[in-house]
Amino acid sequence: MNDLNADPKAEWLKKDRTYLWHHISPHNDNPIIFVSGEGAWLTDADGNRYFDGMSGLWCVNVGHGREEIAQAAAKQMTTLAYTPLTQSHVPAIELAAKINDWLDGEYRIFFSNSGSDANEVAFKIARQYHRQNGKLGKHKFISRYRAYHGNSMGALGATGQAQRKLKYEPLGIGFSHVPPPYCYRCPFGQQADSCRLECAQAFEDAIIGEGADSVAAVIMEPVITGGGMIVPPDSYLPRIRSICDKYDVLLIMDEVICGFGRSGQRFGHLNYGVRPDIVTMAKGMTSAYSPLSATAVSAELYACFKIPGGDNHFRHVNTFGGNPVSCAVALENINILEREELVSRSAQIGTQLQTLLSPLREHPNVGDIRFFGSAVGIELVDDPISKTPARSDRVAGIIAACFSKGLLIGKNGDTVPGFMNILTLCPPFITTDDELDYIASVLSEVFFGIS
Ligand code: PLP
Repeated sequence: MNDLNADPKAEWLKKDRTYLWHHISPHNDNPIIFVSGEGAWLTDADGNRYFDGMSGLWCVNVGHGREEIAQAAAKQMTTLAYTPLTQSHVPAIELAAKINDWLDGEYRIFFSNSGSDANEVAFKIARQYHRQNGKLGKHKFISRYRAYHGNSMGALGATGQAQRKLKYEPLGIGFSHVPPPYCYRCPFGQQADSCRLECAQAFEDAIIGEGADSVAAVIMEPVITGGGMIVPPDSYLPRIRSICDKYDVLLIMDEVICGFGRSGQRFGHLNYGVRPDIVTMAKGMTSAYSPLSATAVSAELYACFKIPGGDNHFRHVNTFGGNPVSCAVALENINILEREELVSRSAQIGTQLQTLLSPLREHPNVGDIRFFGSAVGIELVDDPISKTPARSDRVAGIIAACFSKGLLIGKNGDTVPGFMNILTLCPPFITTDDELDYIASVLSEVFFGIS
């Protein structure tokens, strides 16, 4: 029998402390227990409301509590909850066609469960592609320091953040890294007027240094999101594309965060006019209402997996990848993005935030503010001349002050290991103008002590 006097939150906390293992952070015995979400807002077990300024983990792009998505999931669950993609089903067929439309190109779509899975699939496809073309030695991958590509051994190998990797090494083999296009702290000591895209040239140097016959692919996000919102110069991606072409190295574009509108276009790379060989995607594909990811492979590459005779097929399966319910959820999520014109709203949110947040640039602890569509990074420094990354207590203090005013924001960075000095913001695309004003006024109050 239920005890009518029981305090449910106390019970949940007790079980949380005893049974649940929280992700990435040191175990916190007093977590916020969220109980519901609506639009851009979350409510905790005490009834407090918070603006979800990070869209969860850069993913709840259409906002919380969408009835249409719940109905699409329920309908699919009662129609056909599961069948594997060794054969086929309608939601996967329709979703693959829809993704292909969104990509503006001819791609084949392989479904998996998470962004990490999608990148692992990309690595395996890249290696097999080269083998089947008789280039048996091409097996290495080059990515960038500060990038994050996932939690599994290969995807973590591609990740360029030592602090995430050190406890788990050795990881997947064949991964190396080059410096990122980090203009605020140019790793090559250049300024805008002296820049010769040394950061792009670093890829060519690495390909030559590793031996072009041993390099399978380059993997990158259109901008580095989780490693500090590092936005490259406009000509960077086109230059990388031409370097890859020169050495028969595939270009894998990790669109796990940037895809499905976050960049202000359907996919981040469309901002730069390049066509990747492989595109990986996850988070915003379902707005996180259900787990799903995809690896989109260009028609030219796919042709190599269809050569008749021999063992040419891609020998890879995962039980839940392309689950019909997740595919139905993704289709409804994409319908919403199209119907409500949320990709252009994402671009507009970015433009409005650029104006609303510009006064923060006057604050002595704000070194730089960077935007990509509706994703924002505010780089905190101890002083703007030396650019010394802000101390962790200062960063934590700002996040806590925002939290106390009901605004959830994120942080990342590790400019210097241990310094997470970049505040992040990526609000849902349904965020209203009034809510943008609210975000700006909270940040202004927190930074300047005024409203
Ligand atoms: N790639 C990027 C750019 C990401 O930001 C992430 C996750 O944050 C991943 C890959 C891994 O995705 P998942 O957490 O779904 O495995």
